[in-house]
Amino acid sequence: MNYSSDKLHALVIGAGVSGLTTALCLHERGITSTVVGEKFSPHITSNVAGALWEWPPAVCGYHHDEISLARSKAWCMTSFRKFETLAAIPEAGVYVRSVTFYFRNLIEENEFHLTKMNEIEAQVPGFVRGTHLIGDNGVNPHIGLIDAYRHLAPMVDTDVYMKWLLQRVRAAGIEVVARRIAGDLHDNEAALKQEFGADVIVNCSGLGARELAGESMYPLRGAVIRLVNDGTRMPKLTQAFCVSHDNVTSDQDIVFIVPRGENRIVLGAIAEADQWSTDIGLHNYEPVRRIYERCTEFLPMLKDAEIDPVEPVRVGLRPFRKGNVRLEAVTGTSIIHNYGHGGAGVTFSWGCATEVAERVAELFDSGETQFGACALVA
Ligand SMILES: Cc1cc2nc3c(=O)[nH]c(=O)nc-3n(C[C@H](O)[C@H](O)[C@H](O)COP(=O)(O)OP(=O)(O)OC[C@H]3O[C@@H](n4cnc5c(N)ncnc54)[C@H](O)[C@@H]3O)c2cc1C
Repeated sequence: MNYSSDKLHALVIGAGVSGLTTALCLHERGITSTVVGEKFSPHITSNVAGALWEWPPAVCGYHHDEISLARSKAWCMTSFRKFETLAAIPEAGVYVRSVTFYFRNLIEENEFHLTKMNEIEAQVPGFVRGTHLIGDNGVNPHIGLIDAYRHLAPMVDTDVYMKWLLQRVRAAGIEVVARRIAGDLHDNEAALKQEFGADVIVNCSGLGARELAGESMYPLRGAVIRLVNDGTRMPKLTQAFCVSHDNVTSDQDIVFIVPRGENRIVLGAIAEADQWSTDIGLHNYEPVRRIYERCTEFLPMLKDAEIDPVEPVRVGLRPFRKGNVRLEAVTGTSIIHNYGHGGAGVTFSWGCATEVAERVAELFDSGETQFGACALVA
């Protein structure tokens, strides 16, 4: 391809939800790009996601850094508004449905849960709290749940959505290349810019940032069990349920039940740090079996649902970074990072992509070729 053009051009590395959304937001700003991904949907983490929009910090993978959390809250609300509009497009696979969070203690007894609930009540549509939500909709009233709140949340059918995103990218005339980029981006910046005719490089490589940005990232391995939700063996489920853990350092006792698109339910969750193998399932791994037990104990009617005969379990590696998301332009370079979204990459996708596009547009408007010292720090 001949890259010479008057238009400013970006190289976007990564074809997951972060990379494709970023390419679309750049396009909306009049900035063309080439998306380069080693792997594409359905062979990427973005397809595995339970894909429930969650107020930060999400139930899987806590972050406590205040600056980073404040930015996350802005990102997730930008995404919420975008997903609301996408829910009107049937081909996009986006739904806005109710989600109810249940607690084993009064929310007021836990400052973390109280703060989170108050923020949700102030920001998120459809908020309602009350004990009437316990024992509602077939939830087991005998498992020690004493408090609950509900709100509306986007839920994404990732198989449909990732395909749709890629179609949107292609329809926008954005070039898409299947290829692996090797080595440290900083060392290879000039060569990559020349090869792709790029003025900036946007790094949306998820766990790939270990190599490309020399990051000490690691996976938080997760798995979802998939049930058939066609209304034949049990009433069709159209809302999500979560039981958060009381001890915020444990991620292994979560109940996560989310309707997926028109005819599936996904059950979760586990979050296993630094576990790289995806060869785990219902028959060879106890923590996956326990997901099924926890979720069916919580919502007994799920026992009647058929486990997806074709794909009973999906396993993926959340791209986790101790400092939370790295959305940062590197001073004195033309590189901007957008990776490390952990268990919230779908939730943050439109917020982060919008911010990246703004930063790139500002750079181009300023006539500079490298990001200055005002780069945002994650
Ligand atoms: C079980 C599970 C449940 C989850 N539930 C939720 C949820 O409910 N809500 C939510 O918001 N999020 C959830 N997530 C998290 C979400 O899936 C991730 O945060 C998100 O998918 C990250 O997207 P990404 O585009 O950054 O990375 P990825 O989807 O991993 O994509 C990375 C892309 O970069 C490419 N790449 C990497 N290295 C290179 C290289 N060297 N050269 C070229 N290309 C490269 C890859 O090939 C790929 O195309 C969940 C994840 C899991 C595993």
